[in-house]
Amino acid sequence: MTNGHPTREEDFDLYALGVLEGDEKQAIESHMAACSDCARKLAEARGRIAMLSFGAPRVDPSPRVKELVLARVGAEEEGKAPAASRASRPASVVRAGGVFGRWWAAVLVPAGVALALAAIFLWTQNERLNRELADQRQALAALQHELEEARHAADLLAAKDTMVVPLTPMPGMPKGAGRVTCNARMGMLMYDGSLDPAPASKSYQLWLVPMHGDPINAGVFNSKAGKVDHWMMQLPQGVTPKAFAVTLEPAGGMPHPTGPKVLVGTIS
Ligand SMILES: [Zn+2]
Repeated sequence: MTNGHPTREEDFDLYALGVLEGDEKQAIESHMAACSDCARKLAEARGRIAMLSFGAPRVDPSPRVKELVLARVGAEEEGKAPAASRASRPASVVRAGGVFGRWWAAVLVPAGVALALAAIFLWTQNERLNRELADQRQALAALQHELEEARHAADLLAAKDTMVVPLTPMPGMPKGAGRVTCNARMGMLMYDGSLDPAPASKSYQLWLVPMHGDPINAGVFNSKAGKVDHWMMQLPQGVTPKAFAVTLEPAGGMPHPTGPKVLVGTIS
């Protein structure tokens, strides 16, 4: 629908229900101002929507109101009917049977359709909004996490006692390189690296080799070709590293290193 008549009949009902929004609403409004045909259709739609209140379960209008509405609709229908059909049969017949039959057809059935349309419209709109809200919440959480990481990384990189340890590849192993940035005082470690994918059913695992004691697990990862692996983690308290190593382990990693070294970096 641009400048022409609304293409969908239900647009009138949706507009009358107040559920059309934005461009659709504006288009129908500006068109309605200039098109008497559509203005009439809208008036009819408004009438149908008004009738919905009489069909709604919790509304129980008095018989007098129903009577008035029936009379009004009847009068309108009679007035609109073509002259020929009106002349062909007595007015009493039109009033008794035809009008009531048409009242159901012209008002109640479209009103039911409009109600169903409106219900479907509102339901889908609600579903869409819920989905959008969930997406936004997820995006916000991801952003907050990234921001927090960026702050930690900035703190880590700015500290004078932070050391950067390059990890170099071992011969005959998957190709790549890595770097550990760590600060024992702050208890922070950051890994950045890029490695060829690990063989099937294997994982890479980064180890912190301390001055004293067993290697400490510092992250299990599965590299993708052309992708950078990056993470930050908390270091155990009071640990002074003397080396870092990436080993090839069974998928999911091991409590202690068991496989060959892929990348190694010692602290001089
Ligand atoms: Zn029109």
